[in-house]
Amino acid sequence: MWPGTDVKIHESFPTYYLPYNESVSFEDRVAKIIEWFTAKDPINLGLLYWEEPDDTGHDVGPDSPLMGPVIADVDRKLGYLIKMLKKAKLWNNVNLIITSDHGMTQCSKQRVIELDRYLDKDHYTLIDHSPVAAILPKEGKYNEVYDALAGAHPNLTVYKKEEIPERWHYKHNDRVQPIVAVADEGWYILQNKSDEFLLGNHGYDNALAEMHPIFLAHGPAFRKNFTKEAMNSTDLYPLLCHLLNVTALPHNGSFRNVQDLLSSAAPKAISYTQSPTHLLGSDKPGGYEQEESYPYYIGISLGSIITIVFFVVLIKHLIHSQVPTLHYMQVEVAQPLLQA
Ligand SMILES: [Zn+2]
Repeated sequence: MWPGTDVKIHESFPTYYLPYNESVSFEDRVAKIIEWFTAKDPINLGLLYWEEPDDTGHDVGPDSPLMGPVIADVDRKLGYLIKMLKKAKLWNNVNLIITSDHGMTQCSKQRVIELDRYLDKDHYTLIDHSPVAAILPKEGKYNEVYDALAGAHPNLTVYKKEEIPERWHYKHNDRVQPIVAVADEGWYILQNKSDEFLLGNHGYDNALAEMHPIFLAHGPAFRKNFTKEAMNSTDLYPLLCHLLNVTALPHNGSFRNVQDLLSSAAPKAISYTQSPTHLLGSDKPGGYEQEESYPYYIGISLGSIITIVFFVVLIKHLIHSQVPTLHYMQVEVAQPLLQA
């Protein structure tokens, strides 16, 4: 139910998994995950993925009015998930995280950069596409390709591999190509206009607000009515390890960055203020009690941020004595995996 769970990693598969299949309905995915959580030998971590609003977002662009019904449907689906978790008496016992792996921005045929205008097709192979074109020059053509592309278009930034900004934690990996050309937000790189073009896309600079995913969490481990300005998606891994009481492998995240989300931590609070939009409908959103009005929250978040695909992570809650003390977490060192 999560792309990739049907792949062997470190010689093992998850305890239960379904081969990824887009055509399985959301209701069936929810039924399956609840079955696994309530089995005789229950799972402690369940992952559920839904393809929208990513799919439609690519087709029509996140700014399209056609996204409205798609967002409303995601909202309904989250309501359904909560309803079924309550029915299975899991709602108060699991920690639920709703997130995404990226945002999305609106593209336009008026903002296209055609590589054919600047480069000879026979001089390079295009390994990865817009908005980050990964370019492998043919033998002996490196300088020619780089010189032709650098400064070619005002909305295209061209990097030699070694010049890629450190903050992307990207440049040291073998899979990264010798030349990387990055489009400005909303611009689209094509070889020529006959290539596939999407009205919505992601993969732009992760500093851009439009690229940011959402993060919502609910459950006994999390503080209530707490909001945090930002966190790194890489911090999710140590957070999940903490909730599951497993030792994290080397990673790029930081548990300390997300410790304030937890009810057991001693946090520096950022007070939660309700937005006027939220107040408009918060009395009885969809018949849920206020603290349980997830669908409503997500509706607002998706409407304003447009996060495209959503992931649901359910973690069986450990009782306090099972949760590792924060002591060992303090000695964590974020491992710069891609900087080695
Ligand atoms: Zn996508």
